[in-house]
Amino acid sequence: MAQRVTYRRRLSYNTKSNKTRVSKTPGARLTVLHINKKAGLPKCGDCGTALAGIPALRPTRYARLSRPQKNVTRAYGGSRCSTCVRDRIVRAFLVEEQKIVKKVIKSQETEAKKSKK
Ligand SMILES: [Zn+2]
Repeated sequence: MAQRVTYRRRLSYNTKSNKTRVSKTPGARLTVLHINKKAGLPKCGDCGTALAGIPALRPTRYARLSRPQKNVTRAYGGSRCSTCVRDRIVRAFLVEEQKIVKKVIKSQETEAKKSKK
């Protein structure tokens, strides 16, 4: 004879948040276990690759984690991947260099004009 499964909630619709499986208790009863929704991997906001060192959890579980478990100790750690951060640093450096070069060229031009007069 098939054993009866005991339910714990009254929500009977097969929705995404109401997935269940049958489990046997130590007392050999069959009960329903509610399965949590699958967590997505945290991804880099620029390139979309999965971030290393950060667990894939449902949003409420992140609220219970401490800060070092949610990010990497680096600028943009936990938000952008290491290669994207490196690209940002290099880009910012090159932009600053370009500004300096422009300034130098401008000063040289003004000096050349003064010497002509
Ligand atoms: Zn990235």
